[in-house]
Amino acid sequence: DRSRPLDFIRQIVAEDQKSGKHPQPVTRFPPEPNGFLHIGHAKSICLNFGISNEFGGRCHLRFDDTNPSKEEAAYVESIKRDVRWLGFDWHEHLHYASDYFEQICHFAERLIELGKAYVCDLTGEQIRAYRGTLTEPGRESPYRNRSVEENLRLFREMRAGIYGDGERVLRAKIDMASPIILMRDPVLYRILRAPHHRTGDAWCIYPMYDFTHCLSDMLESITHSLCTLEFQDNRQLYDWVLDTLQTPCHPRQIEFARLNLTYTVMSKRKLLQLVTDGHVDGWDDPRMLTISGLRRRGYTPRAIRTFCEQIGIGKKESWIDMGVLENAIRDDLNETAPRAMGVLDPVKVVIDNYPDDQVEFIEARNHPQRPELGSRSLPFSRELYIEREDFRETPPGKFFRLAPGREVRLRYAYYITCVSCEKDPQTGEITVIHCTYDPQTKGGSSPDGRKVKGTIHWLSAAHAAPCTINLYDRLFAVEHPDGDKAVDFKEHLNPHSLHTLTRCLVETSLADLPPGSQVQFERQGYFCRDLDSGTPDHPVFNRIVTLRDSWAK
Ligand code: ATP
Ligand code: MG
Ligand code: MG
Repeated sequence: DRSRPLDFIRQIVAEDQKSGKHPQPVTRFPPEPNGFLHIGHAKSICLNFGISNEFGGRCHLRFDDTNPSKEEAAYVESIKRDVRWLGFDWHEHLHYASDYFEQICHFAERLIELGKAYVCDLTGEQIRAYRGTLTEPGRESPYRNRSVEENLRLFREMRAGIYGDGERVLRAKIDMASPIILMRDPVLYRILRAPHHRTGDAWCIYPMYDFTHCLSDMLESITHSLCTLEFQDNRQLYDWVLDTLQTPCHPRQIEFARLNLTYTVMSKRKLLQLVTDGHVDGWDDPRMLTISGLRRRGYTPRAIRTFCEQIGIGKKESWIDMGVLENAIRDDLNETAPRAMGVLDPVKVVIDNYPDDQVEFIEARNHPQRPELGSRSLPFSRELYIEREDFRETPPGKFFRLAPGREVRLRYAYYITCVSCEKDPQTGEITVIHCTYDPQTKGGSSPDGRKVKGTIHWLSAAHAAPCTINLYDRLFAVEHPDGDKAVDFKEHLNPHSLHTLTRCLVETSLADLPPGSQVQFERQGYFCRDLDSGTPDHPVFNRIVTLRDSWAK
C-alpha cells in the first residue's frame, strides 16, 4: 500500500538512494539455522526483502551458522522453504557465515597484530565476574597485556586444537570501564568441538555472533543491516570491529521493534521445547506460530504479508493482539475462499412430506459476492443432516433456529417446519427430527412473503461425505505466557487447544479439493484441507479461524 507514509527505515533507505550514497540498497535476512522460522521472523523477512523489491536493490539470505551444537541442515532447508513460500526470492544471494570462517579468522589475527585482541585464559565464570556491573567498572584480565607474538601463537594453537573446549578464548581489547558492558573486552572466539553441518570437523574454534555478523555484512557489501532493538548495544561493537579493521565497507546497523504477539511464545528455544516435550505435533503443528504451522493451519502467504504491513515498523516495543493476525487471514479468505456446507456434529432430519425416492438439485453460489466463481448443484432429498446445535427441543429465548413447531430456512433450499423428534430412550439424545417442507419456498423465499428468522446449513444424507475436522483454539490460555519469569511458560498451555471431530460431513465435491486449499464452511468458519493426514475417502480439515472474532471482549 503505497499511500502509507514510509516507515523510518524506508525513509533512510530512500534518502540514501536519493543522495546517491546507496543507489541500490543491499539488505539481508540472517537466521540462525537452529529451529523453524516463526511469525516474528516474517516481520524481518517482509522488511528486508520488501525494501529490496521496492527500491530495486537485493536481499541476501544468510545463514548465521556459528553455533554448531544447535544447528542442523534440516533447519536450513525448512528456512529456505518458508522464505520462498512467503513469496520472496534471494536469487543467487544465498550465503553462510561458515563460508567466511577463514576470512573471519584472518581478521582476528589482524586485530591481534593491531594490539586490539588478546588470548585470555580466564574461565567463563571468571570473565563474568571480572566484567563488573552497570554501576561498577570491570577489572582487567591478568592476560590482557600479552605480547602480539604470544597472542598470535596462542590463537594459532587454539585453532590447531592444542587446547580443550573452553580452555582459552580470544577477546577484543576495548574498555573494561565502558558504560556498555558488552564493550568490556567481549569474547570474539571460543574453542568448541562439535561437528558443523557444513564444515564438519574442519574447525574447533568458532567466532562469536558479534564478531561474525558485522564482518559477514561487510563482506557481502550490505548497506543497511536491520535488526531488532535488543541489538542496540551490539551496534557499538559492530562499529568498533569495522572501524578498528578500517574495512572498505561499513554497513549501517539500524534497529527496529521486534514483533511481540499475545497468546504465544516467540523464541525458537521455547518453540523447540514444545516440540521435543510433545506438547505439539511437530514444528508444523497448526497451533504453532511458526511459518510452517501457519501454512499447515491454512494461512496464506498474502495474509501474513498483509499482517506485517499492517503492524508496521517502529522504534518502540509494543504488543500486537493475536486477533490482528486472525483478522488478516479472515479478511483474505473472505474474498477468496469458496463456500461449502459442512456439518460438524450431524443430526438427521426427515422431511415427512418429501417423496421418498426423489433427488433434486439446487444451485448454490460458490461465493456470495463473486458470481465469477460460479455455482454448484447441491442434491436435496427426503433425509438430510443438520447441525445438532441448530435444533432445541425447548428453545431458550433468542433461539431462532429449529424447534418443535418452528419454521427455518435451509440455506439455498426450502423452508421447513419441525413437527416432532425421536430420542434415544437410554441417553435422551435426539436421533431424528421430523419436519415438513413448503414446496413453494424453493430458493429460500416464500410467495406470501412470510419471514423466517433462522437460516441453517444442511446436507443430503445420501450424498454427504464423511470427514474429520480439527478445531483449534489458541495454544496458550493467557496473553503473555512467558511474561512471568517465575512460572514456566508451559504451565499456561491451553488444555483445550485441539478438539478433533471424527464424524463430520461435507459436500461430496470437497473430496476433490486439493490438500492445502481453503474453503469456508458456511456459518462455521474457514477450513483448510490438511496437507499430511486424511485419505481421498476421508479428508481431514483444519479450522483456520472462525467467521467472527469469537475472542473479542
Ligand atoms: P529467536 O530468539 O526466536 O531464536 P533470533 O533472533 O535468535 O530469534 P535469528 O534466527 O537469529 O533468531 O533471527 C533472524 C532474524 O530475524 C534476525 O535479524 C532477527 O532480528 C529477526 N527476528 C527474530 N525474531 C523476531 C521478531 N519477533 N520480530 C522481528 N524480527 C525478528
Ligand atoms: Mg539470533
Ligand atoms: Mg534466539
